[in-house]
Amino acid sequence: MAWGGGGFGGGGAIGPPGRPVNGLPFGGIPSELQEGVNRLLATEPDHGPIAAEFSQRPTPEERTKLSLWTLLTEYPWLLVAATLFVITVAVAQQAGPTLTGIAINHGMAPGHRSMMVVGVVAAIYLLTTILAALGQRGQAKTTGRLAASVMNDLRVRVFLHLQRLSLDFYTDEKAGVIMSRMTADIENLQQLLQDGLAQLVLQALTMTVITVVLFVLDVRLALITVFLIIPITTVLTLWFRRQSERGYLRVRDGIASVLADLSESLHGVRIVTAHNRQRHNIVHHRNVVGDYRAANNFTAQIAAVYGPGTQMIGWLGQAALLAIGGEMVLHHSLTIGALISFFLYLNRFFQPIQLLAQQYNSLQQGQSSIVKLRGLLETEPTVQEAPDARELPAINGEIVFEHVSFGYQPGTVVLEDIDLRIAPGETVAFVGPTGAGKSTLAKLIARFYDPSSGRILIDGHDLRDVTIESLRRQLGVVPQEPFLFAGTIRDNVAFARPQASDEEVWEALRTVGLVEVIERLPNGIHTTVHERGQSLSSGERQLVALARAFLARPRVLVLDEATSNLDLQSETKIEAALDVLLENRTAVLIAHRLSTAMRADRIVVVDGGRVVEVGTPFDLMERKGRFAEMYATWMSHVG
Ligand code: ADP
Repeated sequence: MAWGGGGFGGGGAIGPPGRPVNGLPFGGIPSELQEGVNRLLATEPDHGPIAAEFSQRPTPEERTKLSLWTLLTEYPWLLVAATLFVITVAVAQQAGPTLTGIAINHGMAPGHRSMMVVGVVAAIYLLTTILAALGQRGQAKTTGRLAASVMNDLRVRVFLHLQRLSLDFYTDEKAGVIMSRMTADIENLQQLLQDGLAQLVLQALTMTVITVVLFVLDVRLALITVFLIIPITTVLTLWFRRQSERGYLRVRDGIASVLADLSESLHGVRIVTAHNRQRHNIVHHRNVVGDYRAANNFTAQIAAVYGPGTQMIGWLGQAALLAIGGEMVLHHSLTIGALISFFLYLNRFFQPIQLLAQQYNSLQQGQSSIVKLRGLLETEPTVQEAPDARELPAINGEIVFEHVSFGYQPGTVVLEDIDLRIAPGETVAFVGPTGAGKSTLAKLIARFYDPSSGRILIDGHDLRDVTIESLRRQLGVVPQEPFLFAGTIRDNVAFARPQASDEEVWEALRTVGLVEVIERLPNGIHTTVHERGQSLSSGERQLVALARAFLARPRVLVLDEATSNLDLQSETKIEAALDVLLENRTAVLIAHRLSTAMRADRIVVVDGGRVVEVGTPFDLMERKGRFAEMYATWMSHVG
């Protein structure tokens, strides 16, 4: 359903109320179009009620170990139905040769009865064919549904887990891994569930059914088939599987190298020309392409052994059967019908072996994906909520660091024995060289990490004793790089309080001085901003981030000042916005410009993970210590 809870019922006002576009009132849908709209809405997919629950601690179901079995048994009825369909297909598909044998033995003699036998057998043949086709349809539908449901649950489960993980997990290096889990691994599983597993079971069942039928038809011939033909084919198939895996890897690496080399020489074409490297490049490219050709040759060669090889085994088998079976028919120890059935079954024996080898690959890939996804799901957040965590009551905003030490990795020290008290309503600026630990201090206040030793108190509550949700609700964080989500300006400003009214959003925008800019946009606050906010200037993006913090009205604000070079106008606007934003709330400011630091109530100079100076800007200038020195250097650069 589009546009939230309002709905389209009642035939009256349609669309988001109170959203005049460019000053025109929205008049509703003309009555002649209403029916079409209703019809269209009736076909909208229903994703169920949007009532997602989120808690920091996983539920017992979310803690169950991920395995193919636990995934599949979530939908027992679909699983049972799929199994029944597969059994139906396996049996119905293999009725043909037996029926042919019966028709030959009992229907090929002259006489009135023969006609009837042939007629009945043909009818049964037709029925089994229809049954097999229906079974296949049913199987494809149920396994498709099963796969879709299981994958949906898995995607949501992994996503939910990602929402819960602590920030230390989200390093750049991990982002690639997460994406590969969510795409390649989930894709592998999807393939396996949609068709792979069903095919595996179907082919294994088909082989079992054929083997049983062969033994029922004639034990001696069946023994020859099973002990002679199957082992040779299996060995050949296993050899082919191993070789083709190797070949596939070589081909994949080969084409990747060709493309990489091509792209490099295209990008570096100017330097190549300038340095006369064309001849060298051609030699290099010829080598890369040559490797690729060798890899392709290799796969062609193994395919050239395997295909004709299995065929030859089949023909040899048939020849042996013909000799032995023919002899038996002559001695009346085997009927012609049974011999023909045997022949037909033999032909059908090879395909399942080949398909099993293929599907086995996808089973292995799926299993390894499950293991990787399980690893991800079993990663515990490093910042854990205590089981007896209490709700943090409304705070005044006093922040106290008590002997806090911290390191990102065990053994490394980033902050050492920090003691600091920030009074309610105070604005404190952290200054110091890059890598001193300023951002780390700010991250600890928001409990993105826990101290290795010591504690941090807000209004006397240890951060580790209160629920993470109640802490973050009263805390605003404005990062250095403002991130705008795909959506409207309104969505972005009201990010922390989506239920805020349009008036509140406008008020926040007014506070940061963005009203004029937004009013110029085609749809005001309902204008869509592109991902990462490409359509707004960097100064405007920062102002939107400030408006977002203003609307959330946190008691404590942690703000990492933007370092990007802004034009003077944007900078003035941001400084004015900060004045309003910081009023009446505790604020921790990571100040990159010393002019910002000078506006704070107090300045904390951090260096090498320690607090080296604390005081009002005036005091610190008077003291002629570290800050005064930094200020003098800065002034000489700016001035
Ligand atoms: P500042 O904000 O003062 O520039 P930071 O608090 O960002 O400094 O960094 C302090 C130290 O911690 C630096 O040596 C930095 O390399 C290290 N550091 C910061 N973030 C991480 C991280 N996620 N993992 C490991 N080390 C980090």
